[in-house]
Amino acid sequence: MFKIKDVMSHQVYDSRGYPTIATELTLDSGDIGYAFVPSGASTGQFEVAELRDDIPEVHHGKGVHKAINNIQTQLKDLIIGQSFANQAEFDRLIKSSDSCLKMSQIGANAILSLSKSLAKAMANAQREDLFLSLSRSESTTHYQLPIPILNVINGGVHADNPLYIQEFMIVPHGFEKFSDAMRAGSEIYHHLKQILRDKNLSTNVGDEGGFAPNLLSNESALDLLIETIQRSGYAPEKEVSIALDVAASEFYQDEAYLLEKHYSTDAWVAYLEGLTKNYPIISIEDPFADTDENSWANLYRRVHHDCMLVGDDLIVTQLPRLKKALHHQLANAILIKPNQVGTISDTLETIEYAKAHQCTVFISHRSGDTEDTFISDLAVATSAKYIKSGAPCRSERLAKYNRLLWLEKKHGLLLNE
Ligand code: PGA
Ligand code: ZN
Repeated sequence: MFKIKDVMSHQVYDSRGYPTIATELTLDSGDIGYAFVPSGASTGQFEVAELRDDIPEVHHGKGVHKAINNIQTQLKDLIIGQSFANQAEFDRLIKSSDSCLKMSQIGANAILSLSKSLAKAMANAQREDLFLSLSRSESTTHYQLPIPILNVINGGVHADNPLYIQEFMIVPHGFEKFSDAMRAGSEIYHHLKQILRDKNLSTNVGDEGGFAPNLLSNESALDLLIETIQRSGYAPEKEVSIALDVAASEFYQDEAYLLEKHYSTDAWVAYLEGLTKNYPIISIEDPFADTDENSWANLYRRVHHDCMLVGDDLIVTQLPRLKKALHHQLANAILIKPNQVGTISDTLETIEYAKAHQCTVFISHRSGDTEDTFISDLAVATSAKYIKSGAPCRSERLAKYNRLLWLEKKHGLLLNE
């Protein structure tokens, strides 16, 4: 059992310079946990809701003082002096403070902030690394590090270039050690910068640290990645593959996909299938809008033996939506973002179910992120196969990879096979 002694929150800034919440929670033992919450830009309509102040003249309406106030009053009254047996019991109580399913009254950002800071406080109380205390309930003994998926070309709502597909990522999977995979990722990233310069293309970066050049087609981005992987001395497909996040909800309208040309749903299915035949693409995230289930099922039937279809907006880390996606064979992989579901115990429950049903787990950052490295420990605790934390550039992205490098060194962990 543990008891909550104090909780204190304040407004800080995320990597886009917008307000977010940081919370310090103190246990009766004096041990503390201090955690930040991230924030998305291409958010799914089924995610739990952040509470923002909505005062247009202050921080463009994005202040989080209402959410902080809810932590300091209602939530604090609920938890101070109370004893809890575990994280799940604590999470159930804080969730019960909001009668709205989307947590929009108290704010999912307020609730997650407490849930994360409790998990960190418990790890500190046990004098052990967060991944060890997070995995207690999971009875894992054989820990592995996730394969990094590095987003090196940014488009969509994360950049101001003409690319509609949001993320073009490299997957250095042909390595035994996380540090070797990161070395490949970093070398490829810097070769890409030089190749872009040589072609007189911009090397400015987008929200997740990837370059945001004015490329006019998806194929030109993919060809550029293959050229760069080879120039860097790595073998495309054998050592380094490609992953895409289409984030298709952003350009879906009236049952069509509106890119530089308009695609019917069937034409878009055929186009994406063609990409998987022509390039070493191991996964496509949100290839379709979260409501276009027929297209998900259609592409799944055609490619699922060779390519993972990853549900981000489709599943939003929520167990009922995961069960539905698996039942209807829409996806065979899941993106995990704790702030889509609101608590750490719900996040762990969704991951457990995915793993038990051969659904591959990708742990993910958000496009607006912070120096918090919680997701690195979450990935190790749950033996997640992959972690997405953007490019090997911008410290909020590298903080997660650097944490994994430290866990490799300290605990001698190898990459997930
Ligand atoms: P977001 O982007 O954090 O802006 O939602 C990440 C993603 O779509 O995977
Ligand atoms: Zn996504």
